[in-house]
Amino acid sequence: MRKRALVVGLGIAGMSAAIGLRQAGWRPVVVERAPERRRGGYFVGLMTEGRQAATDLGIAGHLHTRNPPDGGKTWSLTRRGNREPGLGFLHQPGEPAAVVRGDIEAALWQGTRGDGTSEPIDVRFATRPVEIDGTGTDVRVLLEDAGTGARHCETFDLVVGADGLRSNVRRMVFGPHEDYMTKWDAMICAFQLQEQVPSFARADSVISARAGRAVWVFGFADRPPTALLTYRTGDVEEQFTGSRVERLRTVFSEMDDPVVRHTLDSLERTPDFLFDSVHQVKMPRWSRGKVVLVGDAAWCPNLYSGMGATSGLRGGAELGRALRENQDDLDAALTAWESRLRPFIRKHQRIARVKQQMFVPSSRPAEALRSVVLRLACTARERRLAKARAAEGTAS
Ligand SMILES: Cc1cc2nc3c(=O)[nH]c(=O)nc-3n(C[C@H](O)[C@H](O)[C@H](O)COP(=O)(O)OP(=O)(O)OC[C@H]3O[C@@H](n4cnc5c(N)ncnc54)[C@H](O)[C@@H]3O)c2cc1C
Repeated sequence: MRKRALVVGLGIAGMSAAIGLRQAGWRPVVVERAPERRRGGYFVGLMTEGRQAATDLGIAGHLHTRNPPDGGKTWSLTRRGNREPGLGFLHQPGEPAAVVRGDIEAALWQGTRGDGTSEPIDVRFATRPVEIDGTGTDVRVLLEDAGTGARHCETFDLVVGADGLRSNVRRMVFGPHEDYMTKWDAMICAFQLQEQVPSFARADSVISARAGRAVWVFGFADRPPTALLTYRTGDVEEQFTGSRVERLRTVFSEMDDPVVRHTLDSLERTPDFLFDSVHQVKMPRWSRGKVVLVGDAAWCPNLYSGMGATSGLRGGAELGRALRENQDDLDAALTAWESRLRPFIRKHQRIARVKQQMFVPSSRPAEALRSVVLRLACTARERRLAKARAAEGTAS
C-alpha cells in the first residue's frame, strides 16, 4: 500500500511538495480552498536554488521565463525626478530568472498532471480542512466543501500544510498566528500594470525609492510590467481600514514623480491587486508528529528577501528527497529534511533586513547611503561589462 499524504494549498510550496511526495512513492491529495487555479500575479525573481529545485522536480522544461535581453535596463529616479542608470532585482548575483508567480505555478501544475512515467495528482478545489487530529497512528482530517458546506472525514499518513503566510494548518496544529508571525511594520501593494510608464522602453525596470516609501516597476521581455508599492508604517492595523487606493495616494503624496503618478493611476483601474502587511514566519520546528509545514506557512522569508518562491520549490523537492531516503521512518525523514533546509532559510531570513533597506530605505540617511552604494555597484558593474566586452573583442 502506498502512503497517502494530504497537501493543503495549491501554491508553489504545495505543488512542489506534492510532486516531491509522488517522486518518493507516496500518493498525495491536494486540497485548495479557491474554486480554481490562480494565474498571473506579481514579479518573482527565481534564484539558482529555485531553478535547481525545478529541475529536481522535473518541471524546469515547463517554466516560461521572461528576462529582458541582456538583463534589461533599470532606471533609478532621483529626488528631482531625473532618471539615472540603476541596479535592479535581476542584477543580483546568480542571474535570477524573471517570471510572474503564475509562471512557476503553471509549470508546477503541468508537473502535477503526470506524464508517461507518473500519474496525475488528485487535486480538489473549493476544499479546506476544518479539523486536524494528529494524535492517533494516522492523521484524521475533517474536510469541508466550500460550495455545499458538506463535511467528511479522511485519514492520511502525513499532512503537509502549504497554505501560506496565514496558514490555517499552522493555527490548528501549532498555535495562533501571533506566536509565529513577526512584525515588520511595512506594507506592500503589488499588481499588474496595463502599460509601461510613459517614456520608458517596454522592458525597462524603474525604481523610485525614498525614506519610508518606494515604487518598483519590474519590466519583462514579453508582457507588461508589474508594480510594487511598499512603505513603512508604525500602525499596520490602521492600514487595513478605509479605501486602499486612497491610503496609498496619501502615503505617496510627497512623491510626485512620473512613476508614482502612473502607478497610482493604474492601480485605480486595476481589478485585482494584492495589499498586505509584511511579516516573516519563525518557528522552532516545522513539523509536529505527522503534520509538517512548508513554504510561507513554515518560514515565510518575505518579499524583501526575494527567496519565498525559491525556498518553496526547494522545500518541496527536499521533502521528497528526505522521504525517499528514509522510506520507513517518517520522523527521521522530517528531521533530516529540516536540518538540511534550516541553515538556508535562516540565512535568507537574516539577509532580508538588509535587502529591505534596498527596497525601501528606513530614513533619509539610509536613503542617501543606499544611493551611494547602488551608484558604486552600478559603476563597478559597468566597468566589469566593459572589460568583458574588451576581452571578447581581443579574443576574436
Ligand atoms: C509582491 C511579492 C513579490 C515577491 N517576489 C518574490 C521574488 O522575487 N522571489 C521569490 O522567490 N519570492 C518572491 N515572493 C514570495 C513568493 O511569492 C511566496 O513566498 C510564495 O509564492 C509562497 O508560496 P506558498 O505556496 O508557500 O504560499 P501561497 O502562495 O500563499 O499559497 C498558499 C495556497 O494555499 C491556499 N490556501 C490557503 N488557505 C487554505 C486552506 N485553509 N485550505 C486550502 N487551501 C488554502 C491558497 O489559496 C493558496 O493557493 C514575493 C511575494 C510578494 C507578495
